[in-house]
Parts: sequence; structure tokens; C-alpha cells
Amino acid sequence: MDSDKAQLRAPTGTRDILPPESARWEMLVSRFARLVSHAGYGLLMTPLFEDTAVFARGVGQQNDVVTKEMYNFHDKAGRSISLRPEVTASVARAFVQHRPQTPWKVWYWGPQFRYERPQAGRYRQFYQMGAEALGTSDPEIDVEVISLAWDYCASLDIPGLALRVNSLGDATCRPVYREALVSYLRSHEHELCSEHKERWQANPLRVLDCKRPDCLAATEGAPHQLDYLCDPCQEHWKAVLEGLLGLGLEVSVDPRLVRGLDYYTRTTFEMSSLGLHSAQDAVGGGGRYDGLVETIGGPPTAGIGFSLGMERLLLAIDSSSPEELVHGPDAFVVDLVGGSEATRLTRELRRAGLSADRAFDARSLRAQMRAADRSRAPTVVIVGGEELASDTVTVRSMRSGDSQDQVRVPRTDLLSELRRRAKATKEGS
Ligand code: AMP
Repeated sequence: MDSDKAQLRAPTGTRDILPPESARWEMLVSRFARLVSHAGYGLLMTPLFEDTAVFARGVGQQNDVVTKEMYNFHDKAGRSISLRPEVTASVARAFVQHRPQTPWKVWYWGPQFRYERPQAGRYRQFYQMGAEALGTSDPEIDVEVISLAWDYCASLDIPGLALRVNSLGDATCRPVYREALVSYLRSHEHELCSEHKERWQANPLRVLDCKRPDCLAATEGAPHQLDYLCDPCQEHWKAVLEGLLGLGLEVSVDPRLVRGLDYYTRTTFEMSSLGLHSAQDAVGGGGRYDGLVETIGGPPTAGIGFSLGMERLLLAIDSSSPEELVHGPDAFVVDLVGGSEATRLTRELRRAGLSADRAFDARSLRAQMRAADRSRAPTVVIVGGEELASDTVTVRSMRSGDSQDQVRVPRTDLLSELRRRAKATKEGS
């Protein structure tokens, strides 16, 4: 039995995200929120857990995410509940429940849960941000959604960003293609990787997604869905491709792109980064899911969306620039007269819209300057005995090389002095 004193740790595959690292997450979410809300997408918050049926029906009873990776439990009333492994099925469930006006454009961010083998860039609790548009099958919305995902990643300077697209057809042409693929795979069964040799029939399309050399070689001559599209799917595909090219997006057509979730129809896409390890190089992806809402119990409703893996985005950014995305407060107040002046000054600065921090416990000047340095504030505001007596403060730059840049200003001028410095820093960077 565990001793009460045994150290408790975050469960395998999960982690704590502490400050200052968490500030990078805030940055990711706030930039995403700005981009998508400017495009008319509203924040949707759904529960972290749902009736298991939402995912079993939405993602697919036979899908690995549902059969192997989902966290399921029975609640105290005996209901079958699952932690969400992804958000799109929940979005469709919310759509069916609330019947909003269409097109319904929403965005989300938050944790997802999948019982996977943890490794770099793969966790059991991981975070996604995404956007979904329900209620229109206009190919222009495919272009809007894909270009939003692209623009966001491009704005983060993700190194070697690549966009691949494909069409998976629909309920008319997919079965015809599937049959052709099945007959191809049957005649190449013995050449597949050890896993797919046994189980390719469960989900033949996933074999195309397998990165193992055996499967890659065996499927080289496999038929492609793009050659089997029915006329309406072909027309849609052409319009999406033209739309993306028309916006100048660097897009490549990848007939092997099938993606992991069963609900996709027509357009699918994925974005990857050269900054990530090749097995986990996807920063995100998505596609159309025109049958999903009906599967969940609603009326036939078209839909398209994407989700981006936040851990992957941060890994990709790290690989290119260790440069700090995290900024310290505008000012750090060093109080040598007991501490209550720092309380007053930080409050005053914060109320005026600047960020400000301070030290506690009446530490020495040196200790407070060390704390200021750690905070990454560009400027310190010092209040000592002399300053207090003359109703002034000393303002000093923390940036190396300009230690001479120190002035004593009347307290009433502090705000304008800090604003002047903040402006100069911004213009200089
Ligand atoms: P999916 O929902 O499977 O289409 O995944 C969308 C994106 O979420 C992927 O491209 C990854 O960036 C990210 N992702 C999926 N599973 C995990 C995981 N277990 N750990 C970290 N990120 C993940």
C-alpha cells in the first residue's frame, strides 16, 4: 500500500504547465481567439466529458480512438461517460441539442484525453484549438477554414510549414472506391506491415496512412479516392483546390491523406512542420464531416473544421527560435521602505493599464533587483528613503548595456515616463 508520504506526481502522459511557460499557451490561445473571432467564429465551450455514445456514434464504434484510447467510466448513476478524445463530435452534439442558426461558426480550445503511448509530442492529456463551421456545403467555407488554419500557423512562423489536402469522397463514391481498395489490398495482403497484415479489413483506408516501410511499398500502386470521385464531389474538390491556390497557399495534393477519424467526407487536410520529428510532424488538420450531425441524431447538416495540437505548435516554434515569446511585466517596483509603497505603486500602474510586479518580505536591494531581473521586466521603479521624502521615484532600465539610463522623476510623472519607455522599446524591437 502507498505510504501517505509517497510523492504524488501528475499521471503518466500528463503534465503541469507552470509559469512562465504557461504564458506561451496564453499567447497561443489569445492570438487564435483574435484571428477566428475576427472571422465571425464565436467561442463554444462544451463539457470535458460526454455520454460515451457521442463519441461511439460520432467518431465511430470501430475507430481506435474509441475502442482503445478513450477514458471511459460509469458515473454514480451508472451512466457510461467518456472524457472527450476530440471536440468535433461534441460540437455536433451541441448543434443537435441547441439547433442554432446556420452557418454556425464556432471555435474552442481545451484539453483532450486519449490513452496513448506517451512520447515526445504525444500525451494522454493534450490541448487542441480549433474552429468548426456547420450548415453549409459551399466550397468557399472549406477555403475559409483551411486558410484560417494556415494563416494562424504562418503567423507563428512555424518552420517548414506544409499543407496537404485530399478528398475522401462521400457516401456515393466512397463505397465504390473502398471496394477497389479492398481488392487491391487483398492481393497485396502478405506485403503489408505486421499490424495491417492481420487487421487491414477493419479500416482499409487507414493502411494508406501507415508510415511503416512495408505498407508504404505495398500501397504504392493502390487506387486513389481522387480517381473515383462522383461528379458533385469532383466539382467540390476542384473549387476548393482553385480557391486555395487563388489565395496563394502553398498546398500539395496528397492522395494518401486519410486522417484518423471516421467521420470525414470530401475535403481533408493536414498541416505539418519540418521542425517536428517525422512520426509526429502534424501540427493539426481537419476536414469536412457532412454526415456527422445526422449520426449524432440531427438533421442532415454539412460541416467542416480543424484542430491544432497546442503541444505540437509549441514544439515546432521551439525548434526554430528559442527566442522568448514571453514578456515580463512593464515595470518591477523595488521598495526599500517597507513594502507598502510597492503595493500602492503597483496598484496605480495596474489600474492605469500597465503590468507591474514587485517583491515581498522586505528583501534587500540586491535581492529585489535579482527578483526584478528574473521577472524580465524591462524597467524597475525604485522607492527608497530619499525618493519617499521628495515624492519621487527612480526609474532604471534593466536592459544590459544601458545601466546609465536611470532617472529620478516626480511620482506624478511616473506613468508618462513608463509609457515613453515602453513605446521606445516597442519601436526598437
Ligand atoms: P486529431 O484530432 O487526431 O485529428 O489530431 C489533431 C491534432 O492534435 C494532431 O495533428 C496533433 O497535433 C494533435 N494531437 C493528436 N493526438 C495528440 C496527442 N496524443 N498528444 C499531443 N497532440 C496530439
